[in-house]
Amino acid sequence: MSSTIAQSVVDLLPSRPATLSNWIGGEPVEPAGNAYLDNINPATGVVISKIPRSQELDVHAALRAAQQAHESFKTTSYPERAALLDAIADQIELRKDEFAQAESLDTGKPFHVAKNVDISRAIANLRFFAGAIRHDETGCHMMGDALNYTVRKPLGVVALITPWNLPLYLLSWKLAPAIAMGNSIVAKPSELTPTTATLLAEVFNEVGAPKGLYNVVHGRGIEAGTALTNHPIVKAISFTGGTQTGRYVSQSGAEQFKKMSLEMGGKNAAIVFEDADLERTINGIRRASFLNQGQICLCASRILVQRSIYDVFVKGLVEAVKELKVGDPQHSSSDLGSLISSEHQQKVMGYVQSAIDDGGRVLCGGKVPDMPDAVQHGAWFQPTVIVDVETSCKISMEEVFGPVVVVHPFDTEEEAIAIANGTQYGLASTIWTQHLERAHRVAVAMDTGLVWVNTWLHRDLRTPFGGVKNSGIGREGGHYSLDFYSNPQNICISLPRI
Ligand code: NAD
Repeated sequence: MSSTIAQSVVDLLPSRPATLSNWIGGEPVEPAGNAYLDNINPATGVVISKIPRSQELDVHAALRAAQQAHESFKTTSYPERAALLDAIADQIELRKDEFAQAESLDTGKPFHVAKNVDISRAIANLRFFAGAIRHDETGCHMMGDALNYTVRKPLGVVALITPWNLPLYLLSWKLAPAIAMGNSIVAKPSELTPTTATLLAEVFNEVGAPKGLYNVVHGRGIEAGTALTNHPIVKAISFTGGTQTGRYVSQSGAEQFKKMSLEMGGKNAAIVFEDADLERTINGIRRASFLNQGQICLCASRILVQRSIYDVFVKGLVEAVKELKVGDPQHSSSDLGSLISSEHQQKVMGYVQSAIDDGGRVLCGGKVPDMPDAVQHGAWFQPTVIVDVETSCKISMEEVFGPVVVVHPFDTEEEAIAIANGTQYGLASTIWTQHLERAHRVAVAMDTGLVWVNTWLHRDLRTPFGGVKNSGIGREGGHYSLDFYSNPQNICISLPRI
């Protein structure tokens, strides 16, 4: 695979599909059933690799390898684990272009986004958790006649199940704290984006990580995923994906009282008040809505605008969105690449049609763009702005997970809060205003785990990340992640009274 930017994604397509392996016990391993799935580059529709369609046997082998590795890894010190995480980060940094190309080819996202958002953040995640355990403290509670102190104990083998939209970014966000706390891992990446999880297994070997500390099983959720979540060796499941899948995962994990962290879907509102700095708000909302083709769980997809500035805001937003360029992922001028698959493209188009059927007007986008012949079979879609639908209609209530926003007017703060909170989801919201007290008042009223004021995706990795309602259970980030991947144990020592 080339490690530099090519003229076109077409130049990167292999003459015949590569075959990826599972990684078990530090070795590439073929699936027991010898069955494979196609991995398609969504910008061209071309099969770029074959990936194992793993079944129970493969998952069980990975779990045994992880359990064996855990026996020695659980006694390693924090400085040793921190050094390992830093070494992994350094090695990814050395192979950064290769990782970014792989992410771009699997997802269809622009190479520059893969490099500067996905892979940069994966490296940051690893370094952050190396630092976090170097500085970690646990509690000590003195009594008159005893001393209590708390130690963190690893859980054992943990299952990490991740989606396709930010593959290595989200895997590393789970993997780094899991290793920091002394656990071993079986990862099940999305079957649509298998490559960077596989490259990561090579990196583990390159830095001399214990064999079996990080295992990867590829395949379909209903097969490899359920084999993982059902197995008693797995002590915790960290899942990021859709809400319906999260429901299945939580049901299968609950049976054995596994620890669970579920990060699921969102339908995030952006509330724009009449005193907002218009230019900054339009630029901010354009980024919040269309980065990664709108395929980020945190993307703003419902824009609520105070009626007094509604017309001028909508005009400005539409002009700004029309400037976004959908193009070949290899071109640095491409703001948006392709969607993840042609199935997803159909789903996004279906939502746009539903909005039109509900009386909506498409002010820009709404169609598959004309693309050069070489990439005409890609899953492209134009960035789209829709108005004039009811806040209760399908496109305003359900997660589209694509480059499509709806804009609704509102009159009062109370009305904006009610609309923003009126879905099953509760992941993120953004508030755009220069009025400090209103910003705080409305932020606290949001039924979301995350609120950004006059900004979006502004991340401090120490802060709690996660959703409420049907968007999630549990929090990731900083000590929240360290807490999840460890069991606190209190030790009470009787002391003589002095
Ligand atoms: P998905 O739910 O289809 O798949 C996620 C992962 O779960 C994949 O690896 C899949 O193979 C696996 N899986 C599927 N069925 C399974 C089962 N029965 N048992 C075990 N594993 C199973 O999600 P997706 O389409 O890959 O990703 C898009 C979704 O992810 C969106 O809803 C988005 O909002 C959500 N997401 C949420 C966050 C967050 O932090 N809250 C972040 C990114 C994406």
